[in-house]
Amino acid sequence: MEIIPLADLTASTVTCSTCAACCCQLEVLLITDTGVPQRFIATDDWGGEVMLRLDDGWCAALDRDSMKCTIYEKRPLICREFEMGALECIEERRGITTAYR
Ligand code: SF4
Ligand code: SF4
Repeated sequence: MEIIPLADLTASTVTCSTCAACCCQLEVLLITDTGVPQRFIATDDWGGEVMLRLDDGWCAALDRDSMKCTIYEKRPLICREFEMGALECIEERRGITTAYR
């Protein structure tokens, strides 16, 4: 496994397979109904529906062993639109200190 500097992370080097699901720690608003099970839904301070996050900071629907989404087919629209290699993704990846590929 090759360690690469975070500054070198680009759209062509970043990949979800070597990421600890960084983006699954972000707040995810539910703006459409994609069938997310109620047990994974919380209400924010403004009454909006969001994905529930557990004490470790990650989304409740994330499998902690595989770091994969357990409701992939029913994941929220925001998760569907969060693109691997896009600016937001790379910024999330740079929030940690080492990266592997
Ligand atoms: S989209 Fe980006 S931040 Fe999210 S899991 Fe994949 S590499 Fe990590
Ligand atoms: S619903 Fe799935 S893809 Fe979206 S934040 Fe939760 S675990 Fe990640």
